[in-house]
Amino acid sequence: MKILINSLFFGLLFFCSFSQQENNSSNQIPEKQMPSSIIDSHTLSNYKDISIEHSHLNLSVDFESKLLYGSVTHTINNPTKDSVFILDTKYLSIESVSDQDGNKLDFSYGEKDDLLGDPLMVSINAKTKKVTIKYSTTTQSEALDWLNAEQTAGKEFPFMYTQGQSIFTRSWIPIQDTPGLRITYSADITVPNGMLPVMSAANPQIKNNSNTYSFEMNQPIPPYLIALAVGNLEFKKIDNRTGVYAEPNMLESSVAEFTDMGKMVDAAEELYGKYDWERFDVIVLPPSFPFGGMENPRLTFATPTIIAGDRSLVSLIAHELAHSWSGNLVTNATWNDFWLNEGFTVYFERRIMEALYGKDYTEMLALLGYQDLQEELVTLDPKMQTLKLKMKGMHPDDAMSDIAYEKGYFLLRMIENNVGREAMDSFLKKYFNDHKFQTIVTEEFLAYLEANLIKGKRELLKIDEWVYQPGLPDNCPVIECKRFINVESAIDDFMLTNTIAKLNTTEWSTHEWIHFVKNLPDSVNSNQMMLLDNAFNLSSSGNSEILAVWFERSIVSNYRTAFPFMKEFLVRVGRRKFLQPIYESLAKTEEHKAWAKDVYKEARSNYHYVSFNTIDKILE
Ligand SMILES: [Zn+2]
Repeated sequence: MKILINSLFFGLLFFCSFSQQENNSSNQIPEKQMPSSIIDSHTLSNYKDISIEHSHLNLSVDFESKLLYGSVTHTINNPTKDSVFILDTKYLSIESVSDQDGNKLDFSYGEKDDLLGDPLMVSINAKTKKVTIKYSTTTQSEALDWLNAEQTAGKEFPFMYTQGQSIFTRSWIPIQDTPGLRITYSADITVPNGMLPVMSAANPQIKNNSNTYSFEMNQPIPPYLIALAVGNLEFKKIDNRTGVYAEPNMLESSVAEFTDMGKMVDAAEELYGKYDWERFDVIVLPPSFPFGGMENPRLTFATPTIIAGDRSLVSLIAHELAHSWSGNLVTNATWNDFWLNEGFTVYFERRIMEALYGKDYTEMLALLGYQDLQEELVTLDPKMQTLKLKMKGMHPDDAMSDIAYEKGYFLLRMIENNVGREAMDSFLKKYFNDHKFQTIVTEEFLAYLEANLIKGKRELLKIDEWVYQPGLPDNCPVIECKRFINVESAIDDFMLTNTIAKLNTTEWSTHEWIHFVKNLPDSVNSNQMMLLDNAFNLSSSGNSEILAVWFERSIVSNYRTAFPFMKEFLVRVGRRKFLQPIYESLAKTEEHKAWAKDVYKEARSNYHYVSFNTIDKILE
């Protein structure tokens, strides 16, 4: 462990001086000089010396004790014949370790790290090809969410799912848990009667009688993309390569909502090359899922809060699909380079949306993203406003903000504006193809960008300011959105006349409503809120995005009529993107904070670790 920390320190030193040199020189740096020895500071494993090539899981899912138990067998590559194989673990119970012939291998734990877990040190020899670890998860395992039947849509069967990103996979599999590694995997998963397991792999489409299911993922992926969900699931196809898994009573509405999925895959391929993962299916999870979606390859995990009945929130599916290229095919080698996953994905997502629904529509998404980014920049620590992050000692999950997503997007859009769309598209197509099934750090990308697209214009375009400095450079593109200008004059009219008579909302999309609610001035009082609510039923909207901004607005205006609806929402929904701003806003006054604590008593058990970890800190 000490060796690892030392080499990391020198790695960073080299890396910083390297960036400095780059800043001072407009000449491009040959790719072979790029730092290829960057070590991920969020793993305690020795993945640069001994690396896993393939993992086979053999696990049973026990809903009564809320545990997974069984084994994992890692096939390893040990070119320098090292004698200690180090894996990441956190909150696991290890029973025994053996090699390919069943011989027991000695194991011990290295120094515990509160953030990163307990490194498992396994003694091996030059002949060790495979290492089998018998283990079980514990009730503390952060990746796992176990739901009682009452917390599901069908209320009949329990449900469980995993969330690996960013550093949670180690809490359900002893593994080298770093995005800097790519492995293939297979699995045999045994579940109770009447339930179906699905993974980020080739999946079954119907239940069998044996209750054991086999999975293969033959394309190498980083360990954070290994994923499992188990429930009373059924599958329905949309077309030959897309379909939906959901609980039976959610299946029809989900299929109807996601009916454009096949067209999205076609549009994405048209833009940046072949879809490399064979199938693109989506599983609709129970509402406790902490994210909008998770791009687990072949099977995106999605929140049910995007099912609005009118397909108005499907940009999330475009986002997860785009990750099939940016993130899953070309992966950030460390979490400090997270923007390479997310900034590219937001750019790609909006290009898919533009191809399907037009420029006017997509500019609304871009402008809402820009506003979120501006709000974030006001409160976010400047150290966390750079695209390239320095997160050593921090949980990567705590550093997730709109910076990686929206600042990353606007950097790419600025480059597009400068070089033209055609050059941008052929560059991105080549970038994905040249780096497929590889990991990459920011510095490698910048050298590639300079060599292949912006030759000699790195300084002119302020690329290093975008990547290494806080805030937004002055060459950030300006979004003009006609549809929002109409909304803004509607707000002015409403505030001036105090009536809704002149509000012409019949043609408004979800995004216009969000813009309207978000941009109501702070002086809007609870009578005016009541007027809007009575006319448009905003407190009981079926659209979660509109609800979330409406509740935030209701807190500011102390519009108490909305509070019972807000409570129902907070207890039912576990998506952190909605919860965090609502609880933050409630925590601003003593009265609201007391109310929030009361609600949280009931709600907390419905949230995944990712969410309650964030909310605990807000309400403490
Ligand atoms: Zn994403």
